[in-house]
Amino acid sequence: MEHCQSCGMPLGDTEEWLGSERDGSLSPDYCKHCYDRGEFRARVTMDQMIEFCVPHLVAARPEMSPEAARSLMQEMFPRLKRWRS
Ligand SMILES: [Zn+2]
Repeated sequence: MEHCQSCGMPLGDTEEWLGSERDGSLSPDYCKHCYDRGEFRARVTMDQMIEFCVPHLVAARPEMSPEAARSLMQEMFPRLKRWRS
């Protein structure tokens, strides 16, 4: 499954969650929460993005503690396109 290359959210197999490019076409890499009309909605650092995502991930996976969610993302995020450089 593809994940948003900014927040790590699963994009699923529909276009429902995809962000948009400047010309209105869909972005293959980023979700609509992160990316709109060719720009990132929030100018944040990777650590800020992780902190923002912790409660969302815990809500999606109640068996996971905030600490476990944070360390999972600290492992995963450096490999995402937005944070790789
Ligand atoms: Zn995203």
